[in-house]
Amino acid sequence: MAIIGAGIAGAAAAHRLRGAGRSVVVLDKGRGPGGRMATRRGPEGLRFDHGAQYFTARDPRFIALVQGWTARGVAASWGGADRFVGVPGMTAPVRDLLDGVALKCGRAVGRLVREGRGWRLQEADGAPLAEDAAFSAVLLTCPSPQTLALLGGAGESLPGVAEVRYAPCWTLMLAHDGPPLPDAPVREDRDPDATLAWIAENGSKPGREPGRTIVAHAGPAWSRANLDCAAEDVAERLVATLRDRVPVGEIRHRAAHRWRYAAVERAVGEPCLFAPETGLGFAGDGCLGPRVEFAYLSGLALAERVLAEAA
Ligand SMILES: Cc1cc2nc3c(=O)[nH]c(=O)nc-3n(C[C@H](O)[C@H](O)[C@H](O)COP(=O)(O)OP(=O)(O)OC[C@H]3O[C@@H](n4cnc5c(N)ncnc54)[C@H](O)[C@@H]3O)c2cc1C
Repeated sequence: MAIIGAGIAGAAAAHRLRGAGRSVVVLDKGRGPGGRMATRRGPEGLRFDHGAQYFTARDPRFIALVQGWTARGVAASWGGADRFVGVPGMTAPVRDLLDGVALKCGRAVGRLVREGRGWRLQEADGAPLAEDAAFSAVLLTCPSPQTLALLGGAGESLPGVAEVRYAPCWTLMLAHDGPPLPDAPVREDRDPDATLAWIAENGSKPGREPGRTIVAHAGPAWSRANLDCAAEDVAERLVATLRDRVPVGEIRHRAAHRWRYAAVERAVGEPCLFAPETGLGFAGDGCLGPRVEFAYLSGLALAERVLAEAA
């Protein structure tokens, strides 16, 4: 079985299927696993969690998993309340789920090609991606526009995938020599029209190097309006807005990252989608909503569905 996407949803599905004795291979186009649970390295050993900032745990299955992670130092609570982060970075929980799973990174799946009752995976130019025999099932956990392109190219569809909508997000990563954020390590502005919706002291998270590293997310309206601007220009403008909100010292490093599909605005409303007749399935935050926990539960649901169909 093949799983496309090594974010938390793909990792959850792979972990469950491997636990049930199934052979799975996970492919991701990125350099490493994690997807939007991401940590980027900057100069001087600096690191920034530039995607998901933290995760919550409310479902008993996810609570049990998070308790195991915190006991083993894979995750820790941050700022009290109900917030957890991966340690030493946000990818750690995904890497933990993928422990022992066959993982192939740097593989952008471009085409699904029918072969008998299975599927072969190819790059966009037709080059083969996984040399193994055809896969009996392919579980797609990439954001819905990428999933739709793969399904459409194979002449297939899954109901609801086309309706999923995401808000984009521009993220600013900044290292500076100024004082820490006053009062609290996080400033939030829930106004959808706010230029900066989230400002966080990245170094305040457990297991990070202490120091003045800030991760700030632009609001959805601003991000959408500036989606195709150059990253350097976006960084400059977001720094100017940041300076109006918090003290910023001499800048040692700054960069901006564009997340085209950041937060689900409209989800399928089902835990997962699976077509037993084709062996194609879809999971991820596009199914249940814009949270790490929802993406995990969706991946788990898809694995359970696949196992139930085979029983
Ligand atoms: C800026 C930002 C802030 C966020 N903040 C929070 C937060 O504070 N709390 C929270 O709970 N959630 C937050 N989220 C949302 C959370 O990160 C996501 O809901 C969750 O990580 C989605 O997991 P996923 O596995 O569904 O998708 P992803 O993590 O996107 O994984 C999909 C994977 O598919 C891969 N892929 C795509 N196309 C292909 C292809 N053709 N071939 C191979 N691989 C492919 C991608 O490389 C990616 O690794 C945030 C997201 C962003 C972007």
